[in-house]
Amino acid sequence: MRVPMTEYLFIDLDSERWLCRICGQDLGDARGNYKEGTLVYDRDPREIHPPILDPERYEFTFSPDPDFCRILEFCCPQCGTQIEAEYLPPGHPPTVDMIWDIDSLREKWEASGDNAEVVVNYGPNENAVTDFTARFESTGSHSHSPADS
Ligand SMILES: [Zn+2]
Repeated sequence: MRVPMTEYLFIDLDSERWLCRICGQDLGDARGNYKEGTLVYDRDPREIHPPILDPERYEFTFSPDPDFCRILEFCCPQCGTQIEAEYLPPGHPPTVDMIWDIDSLREKWEASGDNAEVVVNYGPNENAVTDFTARFESTGSHSHSPADS
């Protein structure tokens, strides 16, 4: 069973692996940090937040100082989808934003009898049905070809 964890991440409870929800790429041990399975783009924050004030005239321009801030973008190594981004001091290792108790997660989904890819849990006895099936298994409805845009 695959459980949608974020917009771009599944946990496959059978293999205990993180998977990209777009292409199915294996991103590593689900008991560890999915970021270890991603490609990381270490961005200069001035590319994303350009100065509002003229940097020739002002020391502080409302643009982050790259000596104090970097933006790390974590992307799927197969399809390139950006999975996560975070602001960190230069040289700081990627943070661990999710650690899951896989045994408990499996136990709860097995007890529910629901398919995690079609149920959204809003609270006790308040599940809604929708379609969270893997995009890599759907039939063209999630295509990202230029003809769709
Ligand atoms: Zn992918």
